[in-house]
Amino acid sequence: HAKRSGRGRVVVYTQEMEEAAKRMTRIEQALRRAVSAEEVEPHFQPIVEMTTKKVIGFEALARWTDKDLGFVSPGLFIPIAEERGIISALSQLLLRKATRAAQDWPDELFLAFNLSPSQLVDQNTAEQILSILRRAEFEPRRLEVEITETGMMSDPASAEKIVQDLRAEGVRIALDDFGTGQSSLGRLREFHFDKLKIDQAFVASMFEDRSSEHIIRAILAMCEGLNMEVVAEGIETQEQAARLSEIGCRGGQGYFFGRPVDAAATLRYLGTSASTPPIARFG
Ligand code: C2E
Ligand code: MG
Ligand code: MG
Ligand code: MG
Repeated sequence: HAKRSGRGRVVVYTQEMEEAAKRMTRIEQALRRAVSAEEVEPHFQPIVEMTTKKVIGFEALARWTDKDLGFVSPGLFIPIAEERGIISALSQLLLRKATRAAQDWPDELFLAFNLSPSQLVDQNTAEQILSILRRAEFEPRRLEVEITETGMMSDPASAEKIVQDLRAEGVRIALDDFGTGQSSLGRLREFHFDKLKIDQAFVASMFEDRSSEHIIRAILAMCEGLNMEVVAEGIETQEQAARLSEIGCRGGQGYFFGRPVDAAATLRYLGTSASTPPIARFG
């Protein structure tokens, strides 16, 4: 085929781009329909305190299965929602559903909720969130908003204003996927995050790559100094959990403790973890 000539490559590339654009538009249209039909659901993944092995909260993660497209991963549809102006409606739908579900949990458990970068340049975001909390009579202190380094860097002044408005009502702020973005350490000082989540890439490579453990240790020391809570993401094995605990990481999240599951299964999970010794559950 034409891939060898320069011209041919341009043609192939253009066709691929057209295919991708068509696919994105198909997903966009299906997603708009799903949002108005309220068909996108939050699932919930436990976050545990590794020293006590207790569940301390859950992160809401968007799940969507379209009747034609099948399961579409949030890694695919969230960026499309952002790019095509659907993220605000989608996010509000998910927060309404997630707070409703969290009302059935024990009071002390928090709900972690992801915000996209584009929501941090939209000055309506804080009020949209707070109004959902008021209507749901959901205590703002139980909400933890997760933002990424990219999210706070695109328009730092705008992001900071939104963060301030949320914090003024008691909402806590976590920095998600730490270590993979492009923020400077100086930003950590300006933003006063309540929590930092160590990206799963460091956990995944901690036994193969010595430098990963050094980086994790440095992050833990920094969090202690800056008085930030810390959670390691993507813990899949007992060995990772044990090692992270040993080096002083208190918070953990990952398939080892539990996969994201729907609201009903979350309640069952809470039921069993209350009646079963958690140590036995988590190995
Ligand atoms: P995230 O916020 O960093 O969420 C953690 C991701 O890691 C989730 O992927 C989760 O299912 C996955 N994960 C958890 N434990 C493990 C583990 O032990 N091993 C591995 N390999 N993966 C694990 P998911 O649900 O596919 O979400 C991907 C990303 O999409 C999220 O990353 C977040 O950035 C975004 N996202 C998901 N739901 C929402 C949402 O409601 N709103 C926004 N704005 N973004 C969302
Ligand atoms: Mg997150
Ligand atoms: Mg994360
Ligand atoms: Mg991630």
